[in-house]
Amino acid sequence: MSMLPFHDRDGWIWMNGEMVPWREAKVHVLTHALHYGSAVFEGERAYNGTIFKLTEHTERLHNSAEILDFKIPYPVAAIDEACRATLKANQLTDGYVRPIAWRGSEMMGVSAQNNRINVAVATWEWPSYFSPEARMEGIKLAWAKYKRPDPATAPSKSKAVGLYMICTISKHIAEREGCNDAMMLDWRGLIAETTGANVFLVQDGVIHTPTPDCFLDGITRRTVIDLAKKRGFKVVERAIKPEELKKTQEVFICGTAAEVTPIQSIGDQKFKPGEITKALMQDYDALVRGQGAKAAKAAE
Ligand code: PMP
Repeated sequence: MSMLPFHDRDGWIWMNGEMVPWREAKVHVLTHALHYGSAVFEGERAYNGTIFKLTEHTERLHNSAEILDFKIPYPVAAIDEACRATLKANQLTDGYVRPIAWRGSEMMGVSAQNNRINVAVATWEWPSYFSPEARMEGIKLAWAKYKRPDPATAPSKSKAVGLYMICTISKHIAEREGCNDAMMLDWRGLIAETTGANVFLVQDGVIHTPTPDCFLDGITRRTVIDLAKKRGFKVVERAIKPEELKKTQEVFICGTAAEVTPIQSIGDQKFKPGEITKALMQDYDALVRGQGAKAAKAAE
């Protein structure tokens, strides 16, 4: 990946209905989203020219905005098309896609009833750095400083930018401690998710994952549950206490960016990425890449 800063690159960004040169896709410093966190976003991945579960992501973007009490001024199909067009304009077949919607500058106070809703889509390269063998070693997690908030305290079903404040702080601390990421508990002290991915535990051949009642029910999470069931594994969604890690053999996380990533440790607790994690890594890979390949073939 290029080490150029994100504001200073060649390419195109879709912004409010137009494709604009990358360096010109700017916002003013007096933008409501910057001061009051009124923005929602998505993270998508394209494989072989096809954005995986694109419409599900766009629908979630719309839903995230509604939770923050604003309406995205483009229908789902138009945003889907903007995502595809941006990828194409940047000549990418494999990469990351980042749609974002935010309140503009018309009002600068807590109330923002009349602010324009802006939408942009950017895309960039995001290769898999590691071979499947290297990935099977697993990454290290620290315990996060912050907890996922009670849904009565924050709009936890929205992929809103403000919810990432505690993630960045927690991830910075984890990185300083020599870890790759942080495992977050929820407001009750139950296992929730990492700073950008959902979590699964394998206990005696059964797959367990926390009920997503105060964090994002990831699109990858739901995909992995389907893949596991197709393999004949039992998947249990339930409240999971951190003490249970003692009787857990394998842990993996999943998300659009993380895909399926094995975990080798959480704090002092060690795990051995094993056969179930490996099988789901392979199944996820085959699904996302296969879907793109099929679409490319059909378009020939
Ligand atoms: N939780 C958080 C906090 C995330 O940022 C993400 C990534 N969007 C996920 C879970 C996984 O969601 P998805 O599988 O839809 O990418």
